[in-house]
Amino acid sequence: MNNNDLRRYIFSFLRKYPKKKCYYCGLVCVWDKEVNQHVDMMFYYPENNTYCMKCYEKHFRCCIS
Ligand SMILES: [Zn+2]
Repeated sequence: MNNNDLRRYIFSFLRKYPKKKCYYCGLVCVWDKEVNQHVDMMFYYPENNTYCMKCYEKHFRCCIS
């Protein structure tokens, strides 16, 4: 086992939760990298809310179209 393998091994334990997931449906949007297209809403500063495209369109499209 070299250093890179060891590092990957350790990080596999650190990353138990997604970096970002959809506020509504819980779809994982960002793990180590983006896995689903998503939108970050800054309306409720200081909280960042992340939405998958499906929920974004469902809840916000009416407001921007
Ligand atoms: Zn969603």
